[in-house]
Amino acid sequence: MADVLITVDAGNLWQAAEQGLLVKVESEILDDQIPAHLRDPQGRWYGLSVRARTIVYATDRVTPAELSTYEALGEPQWKGRLCLRTSKKVYNQSLVATMIESLGETQAEAVVKSWVANLATPVFSNDSKLMQSISAGQCDVGIVNSYYFGRLQDKDANIPLALYWPNQKDRGVHINISGAGITRHSKNPENALRLLEWLASKKAQGEIAALNKEFPANPNVPPAPQVVSWGTFKADTINVEVAGKLQVDAIKLMDRAGYR
Ligand code: FE
Repeated sequence: MADVLITVDAGNLWQAAEQGLLVKVESEILDDQIPAHLRDPQGRWYGLSVRARTIVYATDRVTPAELSTYEALGEPQWKGRLCLRTSKKVYNQSLVATMIESLGETQAEAVVKSWVANLATPVFSNDSKLMQSISAGQCDVGIVNSYYFGRLQDKDANIPLALYWPNQKDRGVHINISGAGITRHSKNPENALRLLEWLASKKAQGEIAALNKEFPANPNVPPAPQVVSWGTFKADTINVEVAGKLQVDAIKLMDRAGYR
């Protein structure tokens, strides 16, 4: 039995905690290093790196001035130009969960419906295929996790795509975490805690984030140069636990909205 559970997405960490798989941790080091909105208020899991789920666009067909918010991707100008990944993926469930929290259920549902109405193609199984489709001209805009864009840049430095940071005048960009907690059946909870504290340290944070092209959860640690090159942005500071708390509501909402 593993001592530490490390996984992606607050939605997954929240589920693990709800199922009683993770124990509560008390650590001044973790609380100092990891901002409050990136960890469980009950101390059962901690974000270790941050990914942004943001807008990606075709640089030859879209100017950043045409973009503004996630919500605006549902406006008529994007009819037949939007690509989305499947609603079955936890990343989109977490995005919609935070929209329910921020906008209210009625408005969030209207936004998701307007996205569906603008789809250029059926939904994609992953973010990389979605970006390849934009690159190939099937659609002009989409929503992806920042690190997939980085992986694509590694394959083709001249890829005619760019990231856009939406909602800078209101709640900010939707972010999520990769994180960890100590398992209930850990045989070495003290060593497990030391490992978590080390993973949150300045020294480890830069390396973890760089490995997956993510942003360090520890705000005192700069991201890798490639990630810095995508520009700075205001991130949503809503606690990422909302991704778990409202996950079921998000799934139901997306189903009602016809988002497959
Ligand atoms: Fe991923």
